[in-house]
Amino acid sequence: MGKAERPDVPKIKNAAVIGGGPAGLMAAEMLARDGAHVTIYERMPSLARKFLMAGRGGLNITHSEPLARFLKRYGDEEGHLAAAIDAFSPAALIAWCEELGQETFVGSSGRVFPKSMKASPLLRAWLRRLNGQGVQVKLRHHFRGWDEAGRLLVEDADGELHKIDADATILAMGGASWARLGSDGAWSSLLRAKGVALLPWRPANCGFDVAWSQHLRDNFAGSPLKNVALVFNDVRVTGECTISGYGLEGGAIYTQSAALRDAIDRDGEALLMIDLKPDMSADVLAQRLEAPRGKTSLSNHLRKRLAMPAIEIALLRETDAPFDDPRKLAAHIKALPLRLLGVRPIERAISSAGGIAFSELDENFMLKRMPGVFCAGEMLDWEAPTGGYLLQACMATGFAAGQGAIAWLEGAR
Ligand SMILES: Cc1cc2nc3c(=O)[nH]c(=O)nc-3n(C[C@H](O)[C@H](O)[C@H](O)COP(=O)(O)OP(=O)(O)OC[C@H]3O[C@@H](n4cnc5c(N)ncnc54)[C@H](O)[C@@H]3O)c2cc1C
Repeated sequence: MGKAERPDVPKIKNAAVIGGGPAGLMAAEMLARDGAHVTIYERMPSLARKFLMAGRGGLNITHSEPLARFLKRYGDEEGHLAAAIDAFSPAALIAWCEELGQETFVGSSGRVFPKSMKASPLLRAWLRRLNGQGVQVKLRHHFRGWDEAGRLLVEDADGELHKIDADATILAMGGASWARLGSDGAWSSLLRAKGVALLPWRPANCGFDVAWSQHLRDNFAGSPLKNVALVFNDVRVTGECTISGYGLEGGAIYTQSAALRDAIDRDGEALLMIDLKPDMSADVLAQRLEAPRGKTSLSNHLRKRLAMPAIEIALLRETDAPFDDPRKLAAHIKALPLRLLGVRPIERAISSAGGIAFSELDENFMLKRMPGVFCAGEMLDWEAPTGGYLLQACMATGFAAGQGAIAWLEGAR
């Protein structure tokens, strides 16, 4: 009897990872470290394009706040993600980055970034490690579903369909925003055909439409609103956002975007209040505005007395502020009403809500209907604001799905 056939020698198992973003790469690393033969199938000509895009504006990899507060960022899905994020925590993610030679730092807002700020050095080091672990990568290989025998159907760049026997499969095909980077959500129909319940895709961390005047569009598109507070449904978020030709974009609005999106879906519009001077009370503002202005123009008065930039003055005009009454004007500056009329398309949203319902998964992120098939990352129905929560959840679920697949393979040995 040959060595490989001896019943006491465990057979090396084949694991297929579909999708080479951060969730898939993390699952691949876990499985390869445990000795599985791992192949990543990625439809694009290179891996992790969205991860690289995330690094363009500074790769916010996780957040330094206490874990209990961190987990609250996942809203209703906290309970479904807590165990995975506890097992691969923000601290573990930071240690993992540093093992790959990428030191991190905590920014003033508590957000964590690699010192290089970019994703590319981290990705390069990660792919070197995966290569050293023997992980195979098949680029331009598009997953098309399963055949009747349960084999994976993967189409290569020449249109040839390969049938792949995998002992365990990780699905990590991402959400449905920025389709040009690879994750287009088209896999949804493959899982629906298998009876898997999915929630509809919706933009998350997205911009909103505002009916700006032509004057505002022509003169202020691209202007930042710095250190403002956005108030919606009694939730107050301080930060920065940007006036765009069509409406509003940027960090502070993204943090409010889930509630605003839901309100617009329900009511057709949402009324956002902007506090242009969050560090000053209405009384202090009114006192400063009451100072005699003589022949000074109103704009200069606002600029001198309140250090108000031109974009904020333009917003006051845009919203018919009561300029003649300092007390009322102060109140308006503290709660400038802005009607949001629509949600920007999912294509340009930072992330997407919707995807595979958690009720379809067991505690190891395995599809209950498809034993041996695990899911991770933005494919799953959770959402979170920007701040490092997206990558943390993608990597933690990749870690959990990888561990789940390892346990599954152990059982199958
Ligand atoms: C502009 C921008 C900035 C961002 N900045 C941050 C940030 O600073 N911090 C943060 O936490 N998050 C950020 N994000 C979000 C973060 O990048 C994503 O949440 C994360 O990349 C999702 O990881 P994933 O592995 O689940 O999916 P993805 O990264 O989308 O990877 C999925 C992969 O699967 C492949 N695939 C899809 N279908 C198939 C198929 N049928 N066959 C084979 N392969 C397939 C895709 O090509 C893709 O490579 C940002 C996103 C954007 C767009």
